[in-house]
Amino acid sequence: MKAAVIEKKNSLSVREVAKPVPGRDEVVIQVHASGICGTDLHIYQGDYKGTYPIVPGHEFSGVVTEVGPEVRNFKVGDRVSVEPNLSCGVCYDCLSNRQHFCENTQAVGVTRSGGMANYVTAPEKGVFPIGDLSFEEAAFMEPLSCVLHGIERVNPVLADRVLLIGAGPIGLLLLQSFVSKGCTRIEVVDRDKSRLEMAKKMGASRVTDDLSSLPKEHYHIVCDATGVSLLMEECLNYVRPSGKVLWFGVPHTDAKVTLPPFRIFEKEITILSSYTSLRNSWQALELMQTGRINVKDLISHKLPLEEFERGLKIMETHSEPAMKILIMPQLS
Ligand SMILES: [Zn+2]
Ligand SMILES: [Zn+2]
Repeated sequence: MKAAVIEKKNSLSVREVAKPVPGRDEVVIQVHASGICGTDLHIYQGDYKGTYPIVPGHEFSGVVTEVGPEVRNFKVGDRVSVEPNLSCGVCYDCLSNRQHFCENTQAVGVTRSGGMANYVTAPEKGVFPIGDLSFEEAAFMEPLSCVLHGIERVNPVLADRVLLIGAGPIGLLLLQSFVSKGCTRIEVVDRDKSRLEMAKKMGASRVTDDLSSLPKEHYHIVCDATGVSLLMEECLNYVRPSGKVLWFGVPHTDAKVTLPPFRIFEKEITILSSYTSLRNSWQALELMQTGRINVKDLISHKLPLEEFERGLKIMETHSEPAMKILIMPQLS
């Protein structure tokens, strides 16, 4: 079978590799859609603690083609998606319902072979049935579940006013989730006009490319979906007294921000972060299946496996307008 293999920093090849065989509790999945994520780009750029070579891809869906002898809930032909972060179930954090901080964590497409390939294996405990969702939509199960974890962290209440900075694919999933939670006025900032158009379509009450035009100390929730330090700092200027800031975008590992501790004290401002997801995959599937969250319109590219590197380059250089880029390993 073919797989995209990141051999080492900035070196990628699409080549023949051995087709995986399932472990006792694993299924083999023929991959139909596999989303490119910032994490894949980090692995490619060398900002990665694991060992090379690695087949990336942790946002994918496909069809079960083989099952190990101990698999109970899946059979050949099932349409599935995978929650890539695999917790051990027996460490301190797993037993405290914080599986996303598992001390023995493994991740499909990060520490073990992922979905940028014709086939991939995953243990049954990370596999979810996708019903009649398209493969393209089901490839969003993982990123949407991360967004839903962020929403659970910030816990919006009915009629909260929200400021959202950044309208990329993740920002637009956050936007739709805030709408679903009953937030009334959700204002979205981005430099890119076409992303702002999309934000309007997906429920933003106001969009602008000029953050400074918006009222200060006005929003119950201010959410950064960029990971850019300066914008993460700006969040503090726009949040109301007793409001919450959600830093959702992933900053550089060595990024620093400057914060106003007196204002945080005087206005009882809460700053929250959100790391991966915690049992949010069923919610993600349900929200997509019921049409409550639209992911179809977030897809800008569907590329064959051979063009995985091109997809990474588009993300890296913004050489052309892009939202979510999907690799379709069954195309060629
Ligand atoms: Zn991802
Ligand atoms: Zn654990």
